[in-house]
Amino acid sequence: MTSVDAVVVGSGPNGLTAAVTLAEAGLSVQLHEAAPEIGGGARTEQLTLPGFHHDPCSAVHPLGAGSPALSRLPLERFGLEWLYPEVDLAHPLPDGSAVELTRGVERTAELMGADAATYRRVVRGFPERWDSLATNFFRAPLHGLPPDPLLLARFGLRAAWPAGALMRLFREERSRALLAGLAAHVNTPLSSVGTGGVALMFALAAHAVGWPVPRGGSQAITNALAGYLGELGGTIVTGHRVSDLAELPSASAYLLDVAPRELAGIAGSRLPARYLHRLGRYRYGPGVFKVDYALSGPVPWSNPSCRRATTVHIGPSSAEIGAALTAASRGRRPSTPFLITSQPGVLDDSRAPAGEQVFWVYAHVPHGWDGDLTAEIEAQLERFAPGFGDLVLARTVRGPAELEAHNPNYVGGDIACGSFSGTQTLFRPVIAANPYTTPDPAVYLCSSATPPGPGVHGMCGYHAARAALHNRFGTSLT
Ligand SMILES: Cc1cc2nc3c(=O)[nH]c(=O)nc-3n(C[C@H](O)[C@H](O)[C@H](O)COP(=O)(O)OP(=O)(O)OC[C@H]3O[C@@H](n4cnc5c(N)ncnc54)[C@H](O)[C@@H]3O)c2cc1C
Repeated sequence: MTSVDAVVVGSGPNGLTAAVTLAEAGLSVQLHEAAPEIGGGARTEQLTLPGFHHDPCSAVHPLGAGSPALSRLPLERFGLEWLYPEVDLAHPLPDGSAVELTRGVERTAELMGADAATYRRVVRGFPERWDSLATNFFRAPLHGLPPDPLLLARFGLRAAWPAGALMRLFREERSRALLAGLAAHVNTPLSSVGTGGVALMFALAAHAVGWPVPRGGSQAITNALAGYLGELGGTIVTGHRVSDLAELPSASAYLLDVAPRELAGIAGSRLPARYLHRLGRYRYGPGVFKVDYALSGPVPWSNPSCRRATTVHIGPSSAEIGAALTAASRGRRPSTPFLITSQPGVLDDSRAPAGEQVFWVYAHVPHGWDGDLTAEIEAQLERFAPGFGDLVLARTVRGPAELEAHNPNYVGGDIACGSFSGTQTLFRPVIAANPYTTPDPAVYLCSSATPPGPGVHGMCGYHAARAALHNRFGTSLT
């Protein structure tokens, strides 16, 4: 094996962004991926029937389109095209109406009725400063002063709240349901500190950037990153699940897009017992249960907003969403699952044969749960889209075990690669000024087990690569 400057393990969005960032600085980079295909949580596959192109993991990309790390890269040149829906998110309610998230604050505020003024006040001043907010927020909190401490402090005053407390500012159930559904993206109870910030971040991303889908599916993000990496001279090896650094070419830096558990296995012989003990205490969160459908036509939503949105949340109520999250975190099957659904066919007819659609839904379940939630999921879909079942041509079901078998970062089906609660909301995988570094100066962690955590934004990879450039190569990005 010839030596290279840097080796990256794992080709998720963070691994690829790390590799690209290092290669942009002129380094020779080799990336090793366990799966036969690159992309980790950003892939597209014909999971059900020929001609139906499903996203087995991520599908909708407010954090990708709004990412400081990804937006500085020439990904459009490598085929990435964002498609923006008219309605970013619709949340139908039992009375037949719906709340919406859209670009610009006004439509969302109007649909909140008596809460319109409160909503405008809570988000005021942030959408127009999204770029600065994202740069300040998507970083390790203890790593130097943020570029705009005042903006971050103003946002932090509300962002630190549990979603449950933020929701109490609002009188109408429809507003609370919308916020609860947004906070639920991190799969932790609504009483957890910082979940209010998650809800606000997703809402602001919609108002400022939108919740786009990539034409052709999430694989387009991966292919664009890999295309750019290739142009910069980087190479990729697939089908190699790395279990020890000794299997890799010698390099000055190793950046691992893996779970902390995997980091301990791969680099354990080079890491002190004290650090390994801290990694061993890292907590993984609840899992998800996902179904991908091939449908003979668009989902027959009763509410018209849902037919125009690429993402639809089905709570329906804030209490039911809260109960589903609490049940999953306490190891119980949710009685009414909260559903996050995605229908890219609203915008992209390349995903399925003419007139047909791909559709994706997931719900929160306990860590490592081995039950089957398909019947409950489909009962909820029938409630808001009568006749849904008649359209199903094929389905692929994946619970926590299948998700983990598919990607070792999803420990117990936890798609956030670590619980997003307690200190781990901000400090991942350990409390440290620069959590991307490890006690071995050549070894870095760059997965979503580092700040800012889960999502297809590449920020963990970007920060880890910058740390390696500074510490190992005495250089930085221009
Ligand atoms: C069902 C589901 C829906 C989601 N929806 C969204 C969404 O709509 N929008 C969004 O922004 N995010 C979404 N996410 C989350 C998002 O996919 C992840 O947060 C993101 O992919 C994390 O990126 P990453 O690079 O840290 O890790 P991953 O994307 O998980 O990639 C890690 C890669 O490392 C490889 N790897 C791990 N260990 C080894 C090893 N030992 N040797 C070699 N390779 C290894 C894995 O095979 C994998 O390819 C979703 C995830 C799931 C599962």
